[in-house]
Amino acid sequence: MNASVAICPVCEKPLEKLHGNKRYHTACAYTLKKQRSKNQYAQNMLRHDPFWDNERILKQFAWGYGEGKELDPQLMEDAGFNFEFFKEKKMLNGQTVYMMQQYGFCFLKNEKIVIWKQ
Ligand SMILES: [Zn+2]
Repeated sequence: MNASVAICPVCEKPLEKLHGNKRYHTACAYTLKKQRSKNQYAQNMLRHDPFWDNERILKQFAWGYGEGKELDPQLMEDAGFNFEFFKEKKMLNGQTVYMMQQYGFCFLKNEKIVIWKQ
């Protein structure tokens, strides 16, 4: 292996001398940077967006306890659910329903909640 020939890890083509000590072609470095920030953004959205946290928690509870089961909202809060974040609030059969993405919930008169999948 000739140490003087550097290969760009993005396009896997040799880097010409004019690139000096750069590890990527200018265009490749830009592509990589764009890709990274895009991935980072998507990951941050999934990791920190309370909306998606809520959706994930609803899903976990719906799977764990079953849809339509009465649950103590404290259980969900303990799991990190944030009742201030939802996509849509609507009235359904006289009840206020809070919808996330696929999953939603409503409060019952006894202050329990019920989760279901849309
Ligand atoms: Zn390249």
